[in-house]
Amino acid sequence: MATLAGLLAGAIPIGVTLHMAQRQSLQAEQQHMLDYAHAVLQRSERATKQVYAGIAKLQAHSDAPCSAAQMARMGEIDLVSADIQAMAHIANGRLLCTSYGKLEQAYTLPPVPGAPSKDGITLYTQVQLPFAPGMTFIVVERGGYAAIVHEAITVDIPTTPADVSLATYSPRNGNFRSTRGTVQRAWIDRPRTGGQATFMADGYLVATVESRNFSTVTLAALPLAQLQAHTTAVIRELLPLGILAGLALAFLVFLVARQQMALPAMIRTGLRRNEFYLLYQPLIDLHTGACVGAEALLRWRRGDGLAMGPDKFIPVAEESGLIQALTQRVLLLCAQDLGDLLVRYPGFHIGVNLSSLDLKSACTVERLRALQHSSGAGPQQLVVEATERGLMDTVRVREVIRDIRALGIEVAVDDFGTGYSSLSYLGTFELDYLKIDKSFVDTLGTGAATSHVAMHIIDMAKDLNLKMIAEGVETEDQARLLRERGVQLAQGWLFGKPMPMPQLVQRLVLQQRA
Ligand code: C2E
Ligand code: CA
Ligand code: CA
Repeated sequence: MATLAGLLAGAIPIGVTLHMAQRQSLQAEQQHMLDYAHAVLQRSERATKQVYAGIAKLQAHSDAPCSAAQMARMGEIDLVSADIQAMAHIANGRLLCTSYGKLEQAYTLPPVPGAPSKDGITLYTQVQLPFAPGMTFIVVERGGYAAIVHEAITVDIPTTPADVSLATYSPRNGNFRSTRGTVQRAWIDRPRTGGQATFMADGYLVATVESRNFSTVTLAALPLAQLQAHTTAVIRELLPLGILAGLALAFLVFLVARQQMALPAMIRTGLRRNEFYLLYQPLIDLHTGACVGAEALLRWRRGDGLAMGPDKFIPVAEESGLIQALTQRVLLLCAQDLGDLLVRYPGFHIGVNLSSLDLKSACTVERLRALQHSSGAGPQQLVVEATERGLMDTVRVREVIRDIRALGIEVAVDDFGTGYSSLSYLGTFELDYLKIDKSFVDTLGTGAATSHVAMHIIDMAKDLNLKMIAEGVETEDQARLLRERGVQLAQGWLFGKPMPMPQLVQRLVLQQRA
């Protein structure tokens, strides 16, 4: 079991590492593609500015378009504009002259579907020119003047990996202006927020960015196989750490689990070495303020010096069948601690806790009788506390309770309200006290809906003729509300924490003198 728990715990950091690697590489590649799309956009905007400036410069002069003066200007524009291959004059879709000279034969450009754009621009894409065989150009024309640029100028950037697809396209009509690698028309209609978007489609991780200045969108796309490769690389980097963390956690859980499982053995050793002792928490009469009783609470200071609370070891003792040995020890310790205290203070009572197994065993009655005898306890000077869970509807339990009460020992229902049994069910047992659980006392005076439950419990307990003890009283307000409601006894830090017997005796002595 301990090994299994350790293995399971060890798998958690490894799983987290794998998940993180996946997320981290996706985020990194999304950013990576956005960066490429921005780089393409930057080139596209630079080229567009040069083209517009070049055309405007030619339009500023009234010389004939293919005159020597205009062609000289075309040559100057070529020189200063790095992205422009040549300037040209176009009439009726025919290229008549360029910076390099007049064409011997006018070249007819491929037809452009649709009318020019609002700003009078006509864009010819995928243009092959007779004087530059084997190359593809974009020709941008406005008012008869044009700029010729290499189609690849915007997407001709080095990328890692080399097979990143790049493109520019028009958001108006969705036409690609330049592309590199595989691109899909389906990618261009994806919505962009804040001018950019990333998404996965058709086996690619795609990023798009829209220009603020021109009617242009750029795109970069990474094949998902490359993303997987990146993830694998990140995993290779992170996994050793994940495995290390997994091993550490597995070992830790293994140790804790083994220790938990070793607890019964330690309880046995603790019993043998007398590591258990009792503290006593005062019970106060809410009307007089006098200490009229105490509850014995078990403590364990282990051989290694560590103290372990009863809420930890009592459940383990119950599960491993050690609880009766512990209860026997409690009753013995109680007898030792009490001496003749109960004889000297006849109005004083001591409460001890019993677990559900104790209530099924006739031995418990015998052991209580022994305590009664050695302490000289009179009737009602010993009280046993049984939880709701302990009060099971079996003939055996009813017998044990009847026998205990026959000794003149009273029975209290502990932690009332935390189980599922109703008061009417409990009414079928012969009981003397009802201990109102701290969780209800806590709600008193808070206005919480559950504070009514506490009041309800008190009223029902009165109907059943049970004496009441409120547990865990920490404030004067709680004490006042309980007193006003007719609760007789209370226990809690307001009146005293669990203390060693000598301290309790001192308190009783002072009280008697006063
Ligand atoms: P319980 O019987 O309900 O005991 C009351 C618990 O509430 C005690 O914790 C006590 O120290 C604590 N307490 C009392 N007043 C206040 C208060 O004003 N504020 C707060 N926050 N707590 C308060 P403890 O001693 O740790 O005991 C825990 C539980 O362990 C007990 O609950 C009981 O169920 C079990 N237990 C303790 N001793 C024995 C024992 O000898 N035999 C058995 N079978 N169970 C025991
Ligand atoms: Ca108790
Ligand atoms: Ca309790």
